[in-house]
Amino acid sequence: MPAFSLDPEQITWCAELRTLAAERLRPLADQGEPGRVNRPLVAALGELGLLARLFDAGALDLCLLRESLARTCTEAETALALQGLGTHPVAAFGTPAQRARWLPEATAGRAVAAFALSEPDAGSDAAALALEARPDGAGGWRLHGEKRWISNAPEADFATVFARTTQGAGSRGVTAFLVPADRPGLGGEALDMLAPHALGTLTFDGVPVGPDDLLGEPDQGFRVAMHTLNLFRPSVGAFAVGMAQAALDAALAHTAARPAFGGHLADLQAVAHRIAEMATRTEAARLLVYAAATAYDEGDPDVPRRSAMAKLLATETAQYVVDAAVQLHGARALQRGHLLEHLYREVRAPRIYEGATEVQRTIIAKELYAAHRRAANRTERREAVRLRTADSRRQEVPSP
Ligand SMILES: Cc1cc2nc3c(=O)[nH]c(=O)nc-3n(C[C@H](O)[C@H](O)[C@H](O)COP(=O)(O)OP(=O)(O)OC[C@H]3O[C@@H](n4cnc5c(N)ncnc54)[C@H](O)[C@@H]3O)c2cc1C
Repeated sequence: MPAFSLDPEQITWCAELRTLAAERLRPLADQGEPGRVNRPLVAALGELGLLARLFDAGALDLCLLRESLARTCTEAETALALQGLGTHPVAAFGTPAQRARWLPEATAGRAVAAFALSEPDAGSDAAALALEARPDGAGGWRLHGEKRWISNAPEADFATVFARTTQGAGSRGVTAFLVPADRPGLGGEALDMLAPHALGTLTFDGVPVGPDDLLGEPDQGFRVAMHTLNLFRPSVGAFAVGMAQAALDAALAHTAARPAFGGHLADLQAVAHRIAEMATRTEAARLLVYAAATAYDEGDPDVPRRSAMAKLLATETAQYVVDAAVQLHGARALQRGHLLEHLYREVRAPRIYEGATEVQRTIIAKELYAAHRRAANRTERREAVRLRTADSRRQEVPSP
């Protein structure tokens, strides 16, 4: 499929998702409490089959799902994405028993999931994580330490938790565990954040985990984390594109209708050009997101660079577009409860989580230089072969 156009079924599906979000999910989102898990909303996502779709969808489907929901109901989008992030490790690395216990509950929206990687001293540098898994002498471990900035914590029913099983081994000493919320010694508290969704800490005071709780192999947990984040990274961009489009739609409608200076705001060239810039940047971000997701689905080796570019451009673009839409609306956009006041709070965090903008730039540069080195080495090897061949031909020619 060309990355720059969706097929008619995909376009229809996106329109259906926007309608579902507006008619079925928006009323539930409005009844939710800011900073708390909205369980009726998660259950509705399950009843509509959207959570199940998370686990049989490819990266592009995931992007279309997130973008479409974000255009109409960011709360539903975020609830869906968090359920995917916390549950994907179980779907991809869980044992048959773990999958049987948690996947039906998670996809029905009856069990809420969390993905617990970040710590007070290990955010962008996730390999520095310190949550300790101490051997208990009976083949299991006891978890000691804290996770912080964890979406859905501490209310989630289970969490994928990354802990250090081997000291001093960096990313190679990390193990992923599936930890149900009712384990003794597990606590946590909610954090009051600018981002409107539930987010908090998880504290571990000797929480027991055993071999049955492993997700993947001991000391291979970083692979579980990266496998999950690689899939979700372009879709963070899709979330951002959905928000940018919602802000653009609102700004277009407002500036076309708002009387000013004997006409409408849209009649002012400065305003119309700003709208054109917002639309162009949003479209560019969307195309990069679709291209990255398609590359992921096709097993393209260039996924890390493409995903990083998509996440970087889309999240930065959404910040620009939402801010511009606020400007074009004037004071009313800053009133509590206004769509743009909500988007203004939503749009900030994606530039930080799942790899801050600066980290994406580092990935892109690293990939570019690695590709450059590979190309230079290839040229060097070809040149060496050419010289050797020319040399041996010269030696074959008999001297006069
Ligand atoms: C709303 C929200 C939801 C979140 N949900 C989750 C979740 O569900 N699970 C989870 O595990 N975590 C979650 N996080 C945490 C998130 O992953 C971290 O905030 C993120 O990894 C950045 O870590 P940090 O905040 O400690 O910032 P730091 O790592 O301290 O970085 C601070 C800043 O330093 C700069 N910086 C960092 N590294 C580099 C670099 N290599 N090069 C250049 N500049 C750099 C960047 O500007 C960066 O923003 C969430 C965060 C937010 C805000």
